Amino acid sequence: MNTEALVQLDHAHVWHPFTPMQQWRATRPLIIDRAEGFELIDTEGRRYIDGVSSIWCNVHGHRVEAIDRAIRAQLDKVAFSTLLGLGSTPSIELAARLCAIAPPGLDKVFYSDSGATSVEVAFKMAVGYQHHRGRPEKNRFIGLRGAYHGDTTGAMSVGYCELFHRPFLSMVFPTRFVDAPDALRAGEGAPPASEGRWPSEDPDRAAWLREQCLGSLDRLLDRHADETAAIVIEPVMQGAAGMICQPEGFVRGAAELARRHDVLLIADEVATGFGRTGTMFACDREGVTPDIMCLAKGLTGGYLPLAATLARNEIEAAFCGPVDAARTLYHGHTYTGSALACAAALASLDLFESAGLIEHVGRSARLIAERLEALRGCPRVADVRQRGMMTGIELVPGAGPTAADLCLAVRRKGLILRPLGDVVVLMPAPAMPGETLARMLEIVVGAIAA
Ligand SMILES: *Cc1c(COP(=O)(O)O)cnc(C)c1O
Repeated sequence: MNTEALVQLDHAHVWHPFTPMQQWRATRPLIIDRAEGFELIDTEGRRYIDGVSSIWCNVHGHRVEAIDRAIRAQLDKVAFSTLLGLGSTPSIELAARLCAIAPPGLDKVFYSDSGATSVEVAFKMAVGYQHHRGRPEKNRFIGLRGAYHGDTTGAMSVGYCELFHRPFLSMVFPTRFVDAPDALRAGEGAPPASEGRWPSEDPDRAAWLREQCLGSLDRLLDRHADETAAIVIEPVMQGAAGMICQPEGFVRGAAELARRHDVLLIADEVATGFGRTGTMFACDREGVTPDIMCLAKGLTGGYLPLAATLARNEIEAAFCGPVDAARTLYHGHTYTGSALACAAALASLDLFESAGLIEHVGRSARLIAERLEALRGCPRVADVRQRGMMTGIELVPGAGPTAADLCLAVRRKGLILRPLGDVVVLMPAPAMPGETLARMLEIVVGAIAA
């Protein structure tokens, strides 16, 4: 089918996610037809660096020989069989692998198929755990303001966003929020960044924000721990909130508060997992084992939908007992633990080891930091926030082109980016080679400095 026909049919029939459709239909969409390595290729044969790793999922590039081969081999055995009352080879192997690399103490894996479902599963694990240990009144959550945990109703309830959720307020359950240690927008009294430093990298400011946020969390728990099942955080970097990085020690502080107040800690690593922040999981940066951890996006290397919710043995044990004790977690998604997706995930994990990917991410993170030095002092840039390869460049509103304008401008130079509000997001695949990454950074710096 030619591009013209595809555009017409897209406009006629596809309802795009997170996309203002009226405006979309007034534009000529870019249609991706194939990919090679770290580049996407459109229907006209034009190439673009995949600067958001296909919405934060892709890890090793596209059409990776080893992953393609693993999926084909699995196809020759079986594509999908259910995990409801049956086991399957790749899902067992993958569960063991995940527990071996996860923070120590996470020994049970519950599969589903998207980040949002992994979060819903985590919520039901937390509330069910409290219920089964005789604390049914501990059934609420505490989240970080501005958090994003997905778009199903439970996930939405703990990640409220006025713009997205206003029509759906009747659907969400009440949640308590604490202000995130937001590098830029944090309330009154935050010490200003010292000369020559981005707000998010100033150590005094970071320490102040950390204590402020942990302090309000502590006070909230003092009053409400009795009704709280769990604290939910995106550890180290709040992605969709606009790449809001947490000061060092924040995750450890939150974990200590959770333990002291007898509530669970749920770490949503859907975005941060699989090397993005420079360690396999963001919790590893602070030596924290959460009670429950959610994984999705990068789990299959960005190939197929698959999610996993990892839990401590103690949490799963609370769901065990005689059948008539009604402790079973009666929850599941039909394609749970898909064999094809698990095979892709296993091949992806092999590549982490054989390619020394975590070391590579360390080098790439240094390259990003080095190249973004060119933006220092630029009056159009309000902040540069980076953890590993997750990077947000926050623009000063009203000081030239918006983040959305910039993302369109870099597209003409062969780079796909997607903004978040005033923030230009750089989310290259962890395995992106240095020369591609350097080209991407050159385009970004050039567009902002222009
Ligand atoms: C993307 C994301 C989700 C939701 O994942 P889906 O697969 O889109 O449902 C949840 N949490 C975080 C932190 C995310 O970035």
